[in-house]
Amino acid sequence: MTRPVSRLSIEDVSVDFGGIRALTDVSFGLESGSIVGLIGPNGAGKSTLLNCISGITRPTRGRVRLDETILSVLSASSVARHGIGRVFQHPELVTELSVHDNLLVACHRALDYGLIGELLRLPNVRQQERDAADKVADVLTRLGIGDSADKRVGSLPYGHRKLIDLGRALLMDIRFLLLDEPIAGLNDVEVARLGEILLGLRREFGLGILIVEHNMPFVSRLCDRLVVLDLGQLIANGPPADVLADAKVMASYLGE
Ligand code: ADP
Ligand code: MG
Repeated sequence: MTRPVSRLSIEDVSVDFGGIRALTDVSFGLESGSIVGLIGPNGAGKSTLLNCISGITRPTRGRVRLDETILSVLSASSVARHGIGRVFQHPELVTELSVHDNLLVACHRALDYGLIGELLRLPNVRQQERDAADKVADVLTRLGIGDSADKRVGSLPYGHRKLIDLGRALLMDIRFLLLDEPIAGLNDVEVARLGEILLGLRREFGLGILIVEHNMPFVSRLCDRLVVLDLGQLIANGPPADVLADAKVMASYLGE
């Protein structure tokens, strides 16, 4: 499936929290089909930037755009409906429900047939429910956890829960995926699998991926580009090999 290339643009974004300046005039772009790593020491502003893109935090100055649409004036749910998916550092799932049902809940949120349609059980709603169940099964297969569909989320290891959270984002019709430290708490096998999954999503759907991660071997293998934040400012943006050889970047890590 070929789609036109989309561009997510972060334009002169600054964020103040009271007296604290978390981001200062940050600008960079990300195209669909590319994988960009957002790195930097703790407190550099990486999560704040993901929050700005996903509509959770409003920039104090500057804006975020998806092609011609200004996202930074929209609510978080509108941003999600524009195709920006987010995977959080700590997955929030309903541990008492099965994997399948957790994903079905996410799917229903993404569908907009409205309450009336649901109450009247309109035929197109029943069709949509069948489609939703099929979509959930597809996503679980893609993530390699189809065998766990009927298991209670609470009974599964942490690595599986993170994949389920990724599955929730994939059930939306997304063009960009934002991940905040996705491999924290995963073992080596799970890390390798996540890398393969992300590369598959780029290859098959042309997804653009922005990934905050501390593990340098993982990001340099996966990413086309790295963007480095330090104390809220962008200090480097380029191919991983160039960025990791940059004296400013080295200093910001060593100074941590
Ligand atoms: P990173 O994800 O790179 O570790 P964050 O974006 O979480 O960094 O934080 C950047 C800075 O903004 C830090 O100094 C942090 O304490 C501050 N900060 C983040 N969120 C808030 C908030 N909601 N209120 C006040 N300060 C915040
Ligand atoms: Mg963070």
